Amino acid sequence: MEITLQEVKDSIRNIPNFPKEGIQFKDVSTAFKDNRIFKFVVNELRNHYINLGITKVVGIESRGFILGSSLANELHAGFIPIRKPGKLPAEIFSQSYDLEYGSDSLEIHTDALSKEDVVLIHDDLLATGGTVNAAVDLVKKFGVTNIHINFFVELDFLHGRDRILSNVPVWSLIHF
Ligand code: AMP
Repeated sequence: MEITLQEVKDSIRNIPNFPKEGIQFKDVSTAFKDNRIFKFVVNELRNHYINLGITKVVGIESRGFILGSSLANELHAGFIPIRKPGKLPAEIFSQSYDLEYGSDSLEIHTDALSKEDVVLIHDDLLATGGTVNAAVDLVKKFGVTNIHINFFVELDFLHGRDRILSNVPVWSLIHF
């Protein structure tokens, strides 16, 4: 049976006030537990990027690993994890970024990419854009110039897209 984008959207569970008061948390696990929807989403992402010569999909810990690894496989590209501090065992580049209160950082292995790579950064969701901007900064440390960004879900009302460098194409499958 045909799946519609509305069906995918409806499969994402909304949890009010998680992890703190005022946040409407989009729980994508309820979409991924249905194989018909999971397959459809991977296929839509694949179709969008299949002709762009992507050589590496860079997934952001941890929900960015779920679709990111399937997508890398579909695109015949390698998969690279960007992780929270202290998780990667070899030499790393680190990038800090501001949160609402305080700051956090992300890490990538220094031998993960080369400047010739065509990189697709993937995360499950775009909110304010702070996380993905740190990921772009990490990828740029390798001299990579051809970068694309993909999200499964984008929260349009937070305008995170406006904070991303204008020469990096951004595409999301589902918008709230
Ligand atoms: P941001 O840096 O504000 O764009 O936040 C993006 C990261 O935080 C992603 O890795 C998301 O998984 C997570 N995130 C932020 N807001 C939400 C939300 N409302 N629902 C689910 N995940 C969120």
